[in-house]
Amino acid sequence: MASSVMPTPRRMAAGDSGSAAISVVGLRKSYGDKTVLDGIDLRIPAGSVFALLGPNGAGKTTAVKILSTLITADGGQAQVAGRDLSADPQAVRAAIGVTGQFSAVDGLITGEENMLLMADLHHLPKREGRRVTAELLERFDLTEAAKKPASTYSGGMKRRLDIAMTLVGDPRIIFLDEPTTGLDPRSRHNMWQIIRELVSDGVTVFLTTQYLEEADELADRIAVLNDGKIAAEGTAEELKRLIPGGHVRLRFSDPATYENAATALRETQRDDEALILQVPSDGSQRELRSLLDWLDATGIEADELTVHTPDLDDVFFALTGGAGVPHQTKEDVR
Ligand code: ADP
Repeated sequence: MASSVMPTPRRMAAGDSGSAAISVVGLRKSYGDKTVLDGIDLRIPAGSVFALLGPNGAGKTTAVKILSTLITADGGQAQVAGRDLSADPQAVRAAIGVTGQFSAVDGLITGEENMLLMADLHHLPKREGRRVTAELLERFDLTEAAKKPASTYSGGMKRRLDIAMTLVGDPRIIFLDEPTTGLDPRSRHNMWQIIRELVSDGVTVFLTTQYLEEADELADRIAVLNDGKIAAEGTAEELKRLIPGGHVRLRFSDPATYENAATALRETQRDDEALILQVPSDGSQRELRSLLDWLDATGIEADELTVHTPDLDDVFFALTGGAGVPHQTKEDVR
């Protein structure tokens, strides 16, 4: 899993590893009689990427706004960077960066001026501010556009400037609220690369997204927000195992072996032309072992064995579609 190969965060003291960058218990927020967050619990380890996934209007931005001290919760407790959100919002603010829907980019001034303004806000000495600005503009491929008004930037450039501005303060935790919504595929991949680099620098990333693919690509852990509650939480693989639809695909080159296996394995979907059998399976170690043991015991040798777990789309729609978890194994799950 990604977490096991993650470098030790540079600003964490030894022995701190595994500590929570963000922990939340029973977070609640309503607007009038509309309950947006109905008791949310989260624990996000330092140095990891966490994705809060939910459909439009699920309350993702509300959660980010609360955790980044922009608005207050109605109930619950939260610690961010080891500080209590309600008791010590100043300290939380000093440790975090926020970008996204409420971007800090001022379109009337240039990208460079936006950066220098940020350096001033963080009380960096002038020379240091210029150095950091030049370095970050370079890193985010904005040097050429640095002297142009930010209003002339493309969507992708604005997002990059927004993140660059956030990094002036050297935050340990970054909230990215729908960082790729509205971006073209190339800019989206670009942004994913930026996020991966942030994490390899030891930053904890709290990401909100409507895109399953994005959560799957980036996040160590994913929580699905639906109806004000966390409908499910886990790694992408854990979430995929929550719903049926997985199977093991056995491909044969010898028709006789294929026929033997097909006869012996009941509940199997056959593709007689391609000599492929699909055996329903949740993809767990236990089920795989029992299938492999059975193949060994019967002397049947498949030429290829692949495990197909349902993708996050299946999970997401099962959890948020309101139709409940599908009970039928799907014919083709990729
Ligand atoms: P998401 O980010 O998942 O799209 P939001 O957190 O922006 O969702 O919004 C969740 C719900 O809260 C929506 O129904 C939205 O209309 C409502 N909401 C958000 N902010 C306010 C506000 N300031 N006043 C009233 N309702 C709000």
